[in-house]
Amino acid sequence: MSEISQNKEKASKQQFSVSRRGFLKTGVAAAAAGVMGAIAAPSKMANAASTSLSYQPAKGKWSKLRPEANYGGASVRSAEHNDQWLGTSKITGKVQKFDEQDGGFCLAIRGLLSEKAKYGYYQSGLRSPLATSNIIAINAISGPEMVDGPVSQERLPIPDPEQMSQHIKDLAYYLRADEVGIGKMPSYAYYASTMEPTQGAFASGMVSKDATITKRPVTASLPNVIVVAVEQHLETYLASTGYDGIAVSQSTRCYHASANIAVMMAQYIRILGYNARAQHFGNYEAVMGPCLIAAGMGELTRTGDCVAHPRFGFRSKVAAITTDLPLALDKPIDFGMLDFCRVCKKCADECPSKAITLDPDPVPYNGYLRWNTDSKKCTEFRCSNEEGVSCGRCIKVCPWSSKEDSWFHEAGIWIGSQGQAASKLLKSIDDMFGYGTEVIDKYKWWLEWPEFYKIQMPS
Ligand code: SF4
Ligand code: SF4
Repeated sequence: MSEISQNKEKASKQQFSVSRRGFLKTGVAAAAAGVMGAIAAPSKMANAASTSLSYQPAKGKWSKLRPEANYGGASVRSAEHNDQWLGTSKITGKVQKFDEQDGGFCLAIRGLLSEKAKYGYYQSGLRSPLATSNIIAINAISGPEMVDGPVSQERLPIPDPEQMSQHIKDLAYYLRADEVGIGKMPSYAYYASTMEPTQGAFASGMVSKDATITKRPVTASLPNVIVVAVEQHLETYLASTGYDGIAVSQSTRCYHASANIAVMMAQYIRILGYNARAQHFGNYEAVMGPCLIAAGMGELTRTGDCVAHPRFGFRSKVAAITTDLPLALDKPIDFGMLDFCRVCKKCADECPSKAITLDPDPVPYNGYLRWNTDSKKCTEFRCSNEEGVSCGRCIKVCPWSSKEDSWFHEAGIWIGSQGQAASKLLKSIDDMFGYGTEVIDKYKWWLEWPEFYKIQMPS
């Protein structure tokens, strides 16, 4: 039986003896909270307690539109950013920059995975009409004139860095970002070179699959990075297996939304008289993982290079603006993700390609410690999956990523950030209620054409 079929069987068996909605409504949850109360007071039940538990940013650093950082109830501490640490990721040696063409979907495009993966990626658009629509819109804002451009000769008067950071965060929220952070740009977060044509151009079918691929060296080194995240739609994940027809659109919709925000913010900053370059799916010059950590927006997870935010896990897509605008910087954060991933392993159990490691600890990789997850296996599956298009099963099942907003969720998240013993408890509760693996039909809104999922191979 294939991994997908096994997962489907597992999901269908999970007609829980206890419905979690019923559970929440009937107030049995209160009893559970009583048990958990021995460990912690959940935030919505005890706001006074949560205030003292949350990280308090420096005055003026957070936006007027969102005066307090929203960590979804997690207990968050600030972490280091120096030569030995990037947040909670230990730097063990020289982190080498790499060529964009040597990572992720670019390997499939270059034919370095299977033939099926190459054709599958190239036909991503044809196989999902909605994703194509998103990608074509991304391509329209991916050219060099959209991500970068001339800087005004005259610098407009701006507030001091702390007030400017607040303004930039307000702007990001105003433009509909779900989260924003500002960090010191790690030099190794830049690619050594980018790939042309872009991966988006291949995915949308705008260029031939046999188009000549070239490398363009990246020479930029702006000191600051503003990172914006747009959440993937929660209810859609709750109704999806994570690898069905909507999976690819969950990504592309957020790539487009975050790209739009980054392009507008970069343009705005250039009009103020400072250098600013938008970094987005259609034209990244930088790897987003280290930028996210530097900007205080999360920690590395068992999935490898995915970075989880305490409120929405890695259920988001991200764009950034690299800039020399004077800004007050956020610090990396620590909410206990490392400990949680050590005991959880839910994504590894549920991954249809078995790409995610079950190792007990992160291992050295390119000068830092990360979980030994096989990104090639993941990419191969995402490009070749014919039961849908792409995959986000790990996002769907992660206890940090896909929960409906409730005090019960916040209670769990707070517990989960309290070390390994507490993490085990949250993992057990998560499993008991079938969180993550359920498929909730009432939220299913999209249309599917499964006949399109089949990859057309040359005869
Ligand atoms: S996206 Fe990749 S790593 Fe995540 S569950 Fe799917 S195949 Fe596995
Ligand atoms: S599912 Fe569990 S192990 Fe995987 S990233 Fe989420 S918390 Fe970590």
